[in-house]
Amino acid sequence: MAGACVSIALAALFWDAHPQAAACAIAGVMAGANAPDWIEKPLMLQHRTWTHWPGWWLALLSGSLPAMIFSPLPGLAAGFAVGALLHLALDIGTPTGIPLRWPPDGRRRRSLHLYTTGSPTGEAAVLAVVVACCALPVALHGLFMRL
Ligand SMILES: [Zn+2]
Repeated sequence: MAGACVSIALAALFWDAHPQAAACAIAGVMAGANAPDWIEKPLMLQHRTWTHWPGWWLALLSGSLPAMIFSPLPGLAAGFAVGALLHLALDIGTPTGIPLRWPPDGRRRRSLHLYTTGSPTGEAAVLAVVVACCALPVALHGLFMRL
């Protein structure tokens, strides 16, 4: 759900200027929003360990963004990384948390202890992230249109 909303927000922000890059980024966000969870299953990794370390996703994002100058296709990777980072932003609020230090083996996870998954507070947190992800790009789009 959050991935879908971020995708809509990206569309609102970039569609006019770069429709191909926006389409790639939208598809990437949709695929990446749950990637930290679904990638760990075929690799038989412990939950919230290696795939929940933000460093991988920040590296993917920082490597793919400059490549978008030459082609819209790296937008898939950039969107995938953004979706995964959004996933981690929501996971860090739960008691289990995510690993922030190396090695991300799950022994030293960090949590903000804001909510539990599926609780009303947790659902409110997801809603707040969705609203923020939609409102910010739409506001920026309005700002760019005035410039
Ligand atoms: Zn997760």
